[in-house]
Amino acid sequence: MSQEIEHVQCLIIGSGPAGYTAAIYAARADLKPVMYTGMEPGGQLTQTTEVDNFPGYPNGITGPEMMEDFRKQAERFGTDIRFGYVSSVDFTSMPHKVVVDEIKTITADTVIISTGATAKWLGLPSEQQYNGFGVSACAVCDGFFFKGQDVAIVGAGDTAAEEATYLAKLCKKVYMLVRRDEFRASKAMVHRVMNTPNIEVIYNSETKEILGNGKNVTGVRVLNNQTGAESDLPVEGFFVAIGHKPNTDIFKGWLEMDETGYLKTIPGSTKTNVEGVFACGDVQDHYYRQAVTAAGSGCMAALDAERYLAAKEDEVKVLS
Ligand code: NDP
Repeated sequence: MSQEIEHVQCLIIGSGPAGYTAAIYAARADLKPVMYTGMEPGGQLTQTTEVDNFPGYPNGITGPEMMEDFRKQAERFGTDIRFGYVSSVDFTSMPHKVVVDEIKTITADTVIISTGATAKWLGLPSEQQYNGFGVSACAVCDGFFFKGQDVAIVGAGDTAAEEATYLAKLCKKVYMLVRRDEFRASKAMVHRVMNTPNIEVIYNSETKEILGNGKNVTGVRVLNNQTGAESDLPVEGFFVAIGHKPNTDIFKGWLEMDETGYLKTIPGSTKTNVEGVFACGDVQDHYYRQAVTAAGSGCMAALDAERYLAAKEDEVKVLS
């Protein structure tokens, strides 16, 4: 049962690039933002090694270091950053109510949701062991590290098809592991895969194990689920592209979502269907999913929140 109640102007839920950027802008606009980081402060980027595509870091930076920089910058302008997870929300009336760690209630004039999405993994111990050392869930982020090498990618949806063609431009050979005898991806994407000479599609294939030398990935053991035969493919990189799950469970019933659980925002803005509630970053974007696009939408969310509050203040002045 929630006991403590605290009121804030701007509550930010989640601490990836979207949340921290929203915090920087909201703090500079004097909204005195309070951020709850969630259980994984820094979000998905804390699971990656090198980040080479975020502008402003000419020599690249590790994901955890970059998120530490984001955090420091948000704190420099006075964001109150707290470790904790939001356990439930109530968006029935203003101010919005948010319960943290199941005990503390915050009321907020504006809520910025930046809870991100979580990549789905196969669930193999070897996948965990080599995550960041040859295993990745983001070809655009990590493909560059496998330039001229052989890699495998698992998945048969649009993401896998898109990432396979992206990797094919950088890598010598791309094995695409499809678990059924057909793709889920759209015809256009499949056509693109089929017309890329250095992609080899292996149907009816399941990943048994990611092979390594203790430091890096050296191959992948594949099972043909029709014949039961196993074979080892020598690869240096292994990409998992079997979908993402947006972290939106606590918003079910409160906010509009698409059929896969991504929050819906009004196009060209970060506004959700509830007044004063904004969404930014991967939680509302299954398409771009980049740190820089998340950061951009975090900026938009803070500006949307600031303008919403200013308009509310104007309404009060007119009425009084
Ligand atoms: P999807 O859910 O569409 O596809 C996931 C794929 O992974 C499926 O082919 C599925 O196989 C496979 N898969 C799931 N679990 C496993 C497993 N354990 N082992 C092997 N394979 C597995 O996810 P996406 O990320 O591809 O796409 C999400 C949404 O985003 C879709 O609506 C997609 O259309 C959209 N999108 C659109 C793009 C575009 O228009 N350019 C680009 C990227 C995404 P199976 O088919 O057998 O179930």
